[in-house]
Amino acid sequence: MGAATAYYLSRRGVTATVVDRAGVAAAASGKAGGFLAADWSDPPVAGLAAASFALHAELAATLGAAAVDYRRLSATAVGLSPSAAATARADATDGGRGRRRGRRRRGAPPSPPPPLPPRHAPSWLDGDAWAVVSARPLGTPATTAQVHPAKLTRALLAASGATLTRAAVTGVATAADGSVTGVLLDGGAETLPCGRLVIATGPWADRAVAWLPAAGLPPVWGTKAHSVVYPRPGGEVYVCGFAEPPAAVPDDPAAVVPTAGACERLVAFAGELTGRLRSGGGGDSDSAGGDGDGDGDGGDSDGDGDGQGPAGGGVAPPPPPPPPVHQACCLPVSPDGVPLIGWLPGTGDTVAITTGHSCWGILLGPASGLAVAQLIVDGVAAVVDLTPFSPSRFCS
Ligand SMILES: Cc1cc2nc3c(=O)[nH]c(=O)nc-3n(C[C@H](O)[C@H](O)[C@H](O)COP(=O)(O)OP(=O)(O)OC[C@H]3O[C@@H](n4cnc5c(N)ncnc54)[C@H](O)[C@@H]3O)c2cc1C
Repeated sequence: MGAATAYYLSRRGVTATVVDRAGVAAAASGKAGGFLAADWSDPPVAGLAAASFALHAELAATLGAAAVDYRRLSATAVGLSPSAAATARADATDGGRGRRRGRRRRGAPPSPPPPLPPRHAPSWLDGDAWAVVSARPLGTPATTAQVHPAKLTRALLAASGATLTRAAVTGVATAADGSVTGVLLDGGAETLPCGRLVIATGPWADRAVAWLPAAGLPPVWGTKAHSVVYPRPGGEVYVCGFAEPPAAVPDDPAAVVPTAGACERLVAFAGELTGRLRSGGGGDSDSAGGDGDGDGDGGDSDGDGDGQGPAGGGVAPPPPPPPPVHQACCLPVSPDGVPLIGWLPGTGDTVAITTGHSCWGILLGPASGLAVAQLIVDGVAAVVDLTPFSPSRFCS
């Protein structure tokens, strides 16, 4: 959110200072899947989603599709059921106790051959543990796309020309009328003067309740979710799941690490689904896999972007792909599940917030950032009606 806001402010001639305690794309905006869907959201988010999907295409044209790994794609929902092979294995293990009813009696006709996979079933779902029992198209290249979240965040910030200050904001300095005059960094060691402040701290936005007690900010929680990024020579594979109940997040984004066993369960499940992901080794939390920067982009030893080392004239086989990255990050969730975008009450239109985008913050980032930039520079957000997103809806 911060990078997108800084980018659209710069399009209006305003150069921002971005303050982040952990660096660029260090949290969810660097670790998300980057899946984009134009029409999967219900009101009031639907209009924001459609506008933002269109802005992603514009950004890909401006920043370079290759620079942010933007691509259109199709999406399919599949239903799975334990396969006949898995059931036979289970029977062999437990003597069929798990499914006494329906066992074939001596002399009974053999089971029919497994049904053909349903139309639209992806051919790479070739594991023998699960049978695809349904497959339904969810999106076409006209309505679904993907971007690399960390690359997009970095590209937006670079294009904005913003100054990046690496520090923790620990408070806000205000004038008697409630308007902001600066932010306190690292426990008050330094004050950074400012005329407008945008709080874009994702699931850490609840810290601002103490900074601006009169603003009526609701609690914002983090829902921890896990992902495993398999860097493959021909392309990266992102698998995510196992979200946990919303909770307050630790101060340092680096302290958001995978819950023991969660990524290993993802690896095991991915290996059951497709042989292409069956070899994946252990991986390390947030660091050792890929290129070690935790963004899961797999690295590239010669920097030419092909995921391979230097082209050699000898017979040396290509190096094996690095082990998958195991990581966790937190979705920012508001009490009613709807993002908070707009001016904070009691601040004289000097402090805006953009957070609570839950599992769609990469999709919604551009329109949310543009809306905040328009609010600050033009006085009104033309890209989308911000009324349903107003933080004041929580003020009694
Ligand atoms: C596993 C997973 C998969 C996802 N997949 C998708 C997807 O496919 N598509 C999609 O659209 N969305 C996806 N999302 C959601 C998306 O990642 C988030 O909604 C979005 O990244 C939130 O962005 P943000 O800028 O609000 O917060 P963040 O990305 O969390 O950024 C907040 C930043 O604030 C900084 N900060 C916090 N407190 C302070 C402070 N006091 N001082 C200074 N800096 C501070 C942090 O260091 C951090 O860099 C996914 C999320 C997860 C967890």
